[in-house]
Amino acid sequence: MSGRSVTALALFSGGLDSILACRLIMAQGIKVRAVRFVTPFFGDELLRCEDEYRQGVADKYGIDVQLRDVSDKYLEMLRQPAHGYGKNFNPCVDCKILIASESRVMLAEEGASFLISGEVIGQRPMSQRRDTLRIIEKDSGCDEILLRPLCALNLAETLPEKEGWVDRQRLLAFKGRTRQPQMALAASFGIEDYPSPAGGCILTDPNKAGRVRRFYEEHDEVVTADIRLLMVGRQFVLPGDGWLVVGRNEEENNSILALQQTGDVLLSMTDDWPGPSAILRHSGGVKDIEAAVGLIKRFSRKGVGRKNASVQWWKAGEEKVKELNLPVMEDGFFRDWKR
Ligand code: SF4
Repeated sequence: MSGRSVTALALFSGGLDSILACRLIMAQGIKVRAVRFVTPFFGDELLRCEDEYRQGVADKYGIDVQLRDVSDKYLEMLRQPAHGYGKNFNPCVDCKILIASESRVMLAEEGASFLISGEVIGQRPMSQRRDTLRIIEKDSGCDEILLRPLCALNLAETLPEKEGWVDRQRLLAFKGRTRQPQMALAASFGIEDYPSPAGGCILTDPNKAGRVRRFYEEHDEVVTADIRLLMVGRQFVLPGDGWLVVGRNEEENNSILALQQTGDVLLSMTDDWPGPSAILRHSGGVKDIEAAVGLIKRFSRKGVGRKNASVQWWKAGEEKVKELNLPVMEDGFFRDWKR
């Protein structure tokens, strides 16, 4: 197989390292197809604008990327990752194993012969140590076929190098936490506009990760729709066990309403009064609806609560809207209901 007829499949995170790994291999005349995996914890918003995202990456970096939603498998893995969690609820090693094994399965459908990733040895304390990189290869079934172009010269030769599909001399020996070599390489490719390295994964955010951890502790079954709802607004567990999520601004109000599922109760202030929208999931009945009404009025704009404002509520997918006017809930009353 000559270099020109070979295709590589790239594990693409969207960060600079993965962009550079693709470009380095493309510079050898090898075709690269990239795949960005998404879950409710990272990249989820891209599913709503996939075409624009793909076009943006192609225009900016010349990379052909597709999205792959692996939420179900990820949520299952997150309950008990074989290699444990990082500082928060982030199962980084198992996350990389899952992504590598999903990519391996995609090789045939993409007509690709090997995988590449932008990992750099020593860059992250948990998931990019030499021994961890080996674990990721082995546990994902990617031994020999996962090439890391940015640090390949610090690692053993892989199949594409041994077979001569990739010229090892033109690979790199990056290591450690410094970003300078990446920035210089980006400049050499004429890449100036790229995402900052920090952030992107909700499971590394102490507050949100804590919320997810508690949700796992409380539920035997966790599904994507619930995790999406868990990530927005003010969260309460009401006395009847109903789960109430209240928007904090217009954007969140819109997101919350877009997350409705059959069986949910939706609530918002009547048109005359500004205020939050909310979802009540797994409602415990009338008592929870009444509590939700009091809370919505509590979080409506100052002063509304003292007036004769009603809250509308209806069941998801149903036309019939009811109205309820109850007093504003006092702060001391719901302190223990916060999730
Ligand atoms: S930070 Fe998040 S996305 Fe990155 S490896 Fe860890 S769990 Fe996976």
